[in-house]
Amino acid sequence: MLGSCLCGQIKYEVACFHPEITNCHCGMCRKFHGAAFATYGKVQSRDFRWLEGQTLLGTYQSSTAAERGFCTCCGSSLYYQFVGQEDQISIAIGTLDEEPSRSVDNSIFCSSRPLWSICNKDIPEHPEW
Ligand SMILES: [Zn+2]
Ligand SMILES: [Zn+2]
Repeated sequence: MLGSCLCGQIKYEVACFHPEITNCHCGMCRKFHGAAFATYGKVQSRDFRWLEGQTLLGTYQSSTAAERGFCTCCGSSLYYQFVGQEDQISIAIGTLDEEPSRSVDNSIFCSSRPLWSICNKDIPEHPEW
């Protein structure tokens, strides 16, 4: 599966997501994405490679446990990685350019979810604008 940032200068390839894809509702993911939650697919490093634009990657250490990666040109949130666990990377799957090979497995940090982000099935849905 191919993925890229918003400006398209950073491109990557994932062979498979394993062992899971997770919606994370924690406050750090919410702020890093500027969105209700982040969806991350875990990838073993042998199943992942950067194809282009790696020199544009910026990193931010959001806690002692993890570092987050983003595009320094367009600001796209791309990944997080636990410190000392360089054998796997969690990719922000909103940056995929095609459907992932598995669906979302679970949601975590649901107790951090603000009321506004709880999906209201009664609101109108539009195909585009
Ligand atoms: Zn970019
Ligand atoms: Zn999180």
